[in-house]
Amino acid sequence: MAARRRASRRARPTSQGAWVAGLAVVVAAMAFACGRPRAPRPAQVPASHPTPAATPSATAPAVVDLEPEAAKLRARALEALPSGSRWEVVGAEPRREGALRWRHARYRVWLPAGANLKAATGSLVKAAEDAGGVLLASRPVEGGQVLELGVEHGGRVLPVVQVRVESPPKPVKGAGARVAVVLDDAGMRLEELDRVLRIGRPVTLAILPGLPHSQELARRAREAGVDVLLHLPMEPEDPSLARLLGEFGVRVDMSEEEIGQTVRAALRAVPGAVGVNNHMGSRATADPRVVGAVLRVVREEGLFFLDSRTTPRSSVEAVAKNLGVRTAHRSVFLDNDPSPEAVRGQVRRLAELALREGSAVGIGHANRPHTPEVLAEMAAELEQRGVQLVPLRELVR
Ligand SMILES: [Zn+2]
Repeated sequence: MAARRRASRRARPTSQGAWVAGLAVVVAAMAFACGRPRAPRPAQVPASHPTPAATPSATAPAVVDLEPEAAKLRARALEALPSGSRWEVVGAEPRREGALRWRHARYRVWLPAGANLKAATGSLVKAAEDAGGVLLASRPVEGGQVLELGVEHGGRVLPVVQVRVESPPKPVKGAGARVAVVLDDAGMRLEELDRVLRIGRPVTLAILPGLPHSQELARRAREAGVDVLLHLPMEPEDPSLARLLGEFGVRVDMSEEEIGQTVRAALRAVPGAVGVNNHMGSRATADPRVVGAVLRVVREEGLFFLDSRTTPRSSVEAVAKNLGVRTAHRSVFLDNDPSPEAVRGQVRRLAELALREGSAVGIGHANRPHTPEVLAEMAAELEQRGVQLVPLRELVR
């Protein structure tokens, strides 16, 4: 690999096009120079023309189609780009070598603001390698990095994709970007607090009232310096979910007095909460009467309300403004897809939003298998990009 990298550095482009052609020659040559060919190889490899069969024989070998493998490598590599990246195909042509057939494609990738070029190309290469690919060349160019990747076949590496990754735009409000993360649905297990503490950064825990450990978890979280929200069940559009609201649920058929009593009882069940956010609520938060009744209690208790934004028709912001209640709203759901890769992508989206807007709020779940671990793993990456994790109460207006 070192030899390949050295070889690629020798290409001295005068323009991108010339360089691309130059790389093609270098890469094609490297593919032969570095492999362990079992068949005789041609003395010279043309840059952009299909290579004729090295040893035409009486019995023509069966055609080997490498394209499925090549396509898999290209797809995996692009999937590994940070969320918010844009890419396009700049060119693609069929290639053949002896009995081998595949396509060579060229891509151009634009990273989103806040992305890190090194990290992005690193994860792209890793994903390609995990898919059985080989890095043939990696070379800095004006404003980015060009990678050439290949697949191995019969001891040779055949180039299947070239990716030009443009550097991300410089963040406008990079300094002082802040994100708050809230982990919802807590209260089933005391260990949910341990998982939050292992993140080693301020994360806010939203506890459902009436679960086996709601009260004790709220108490321990406060002692450990972790902010707690009352995660208030509110009626969703979906009637099958509405049946799960429980005794602390706010329903749209309740009077304002009943709603007030329910919210107060729920606050007693999660003692010491610094704010309230809605669990479900796609129906109830769209109803200004219901929201008003909830927010009046929130104001009386000197708390704030985080709108989880489970519906685009939420009236929380408008009603809160009228009543003078402090609010924030959710920008990104972190773990609707709970896989670590998906959570990582959403955390990066959250950071990019914060870099653009100054701050952003992410909501995940205390009981999903990977969310706290991914946050712990990514906290340093966010900080390197100038994004601080802060308690939600600092982002409430
Ligand atoms: Zn919830």
